[in-house]
Amino acid sequence: MHIEILNTGTELLLGNTLNTHGSWFGRQLFNMGLRVARQSTVPDGEAIREAFEEMVLRSDALLITGGLGPTSDDLTREIVAESLGLELHQDEQALRTLESFFSIRGKPMVAANLKQVLVPTGADVLPNPNGTAPGLYLPPRINRLSNCAIFLLPGPPRELYPMFHNEVAPRLRSLSGCSDVASVCELKFTGIGESDFHHGIDDELAALAGLEYGYCARMGEVDLRLIGNDQVISTARDLVLEKFSEFLISDDGTSLEATVTRLLREKGKKLATAESCTGGLIANRLTNVPGASEVFTHGWVTYANEAKMDQLHVAKNLLEMHGAVSEEVARAMAEGALQESAADCALSVTGIAGPDGGTEEKPVGTAWLGLAVRGKKTQTVRVFHPRNRKDFKQAVSQSALNLVRLEIRG
Ligand code: AMP
Ligand code: MG
Repeated sequence: MHIEILNTGTELLLGNTLNTHGSWFGRQLFNMGLRVARQSTVPDGEAIREAFEEMVLRSDALLITGGLGPTSDDLTREIVAESLGLELHQDEQALRTLESFFSIRGKPMVAANLKQVLVPTGADVLPNPNGTAPGLYLPPRINRLSNCAIFLLPGPPRELYPMFHNEVAPRLRSLSGCSDVASVCELKFTGIGESDFHHGIDDELAALAGLEYGYCARMGEVDLRLIGNDQVISTARDLVLEKFSEFLISDDGTSLEATVTRLLREKGKKLATAESCTGGLIANRLTNVPGASEVFTHGWVTYANEAKMDQLHVAKNLLEMHGAVSEEVARAMAEGALQESAADCALSVTGIAGPDGGTEEKPVGTAWLGLAVRGKKTQTVRVFHPRNRKDFKQAVSQSALNLVRLEIRG
């Protein structure tokens, strides 16, 4: 079934409002075994006509959002009716619903609202208990241009989402005869790049009949998406994990910080952090996870040398001899944090975010990580993420959390 989405609204193209409908519809339809073939965004007004007339010719179903409001730039209903040569008439039932919407709220209904109860001949009114604009469904039989089923839906998510579930999804299901719902498995990896998969596993995945797969790279992370029936997903998953299991964060979309938190809880361990260049980002990521208080004890941000000395007992001569960004200081920070806390392990990071401060020996992007664990020798790792400051912090926090993950999983 060829389904397209038309999002209308000048605010979406000015960059004022993020167009979240595209991704939301994608997920909803995928969960029903359907796909969005294309999505277009146009400003309010006449631009809708051209997009609509193009899309309706190639679609089996067209979902249009926005422009059903009472103002002069809300023209979706009028343009669609005109393009299809359908008369608009006032729907008495919709009018009564609208009147009671206002009377319940003790607000007067203005004349402009009356256009919201105009309905093209042959269309179904889709009730909107959360707003004034009812949706509309124009079944294929009343469409003079094509064989397309057309849905006109309100823009605000709190109105759109329930209407989709109550009114649109059942109609789409019966129109499509609903195909098998494919399973999806999202494997999340870190410490490995997209191209490593390309060389390591791509040919084998491509050879699996009935498997659809794709990669999505983010800062310090790669997702591998597997789509198909349960059997082929399981085969593909085994193939991938045979080679890359040590890099796997999760197979259900769980973040690295949530995975670290879970592993710490399972092992009954507590963590403290001593951050310099990441400025608290690691602590922030960990404390975004519900239940972090069970495993996270302290987070120091010791940015200045004095703070490293005062708070974490980093020796002055280490800082002078090796510099703040050094293996020695990373080790001393982690050991100081372990000493000052009741945690079982302490993670430290110190690095050069740039743009200034790099040297030939320690270029911008260099960071040292330390991980002190009670009763063990402290680990240190040098990483290199030459990026802008924000991405550098994200990438270093990712490397650091991954160090904890590898230690705790054993
Ligand atoms: P409308 O139905 O055109 O009056 O939409 C009203 C409001 O819905 C807008 O001001 C936005 O806040 C929201 N909205 C409309 N379209 C979208 C979209 N594609 N993504 C996210 N929000 C939207
Ligand atoms: Mg609008």
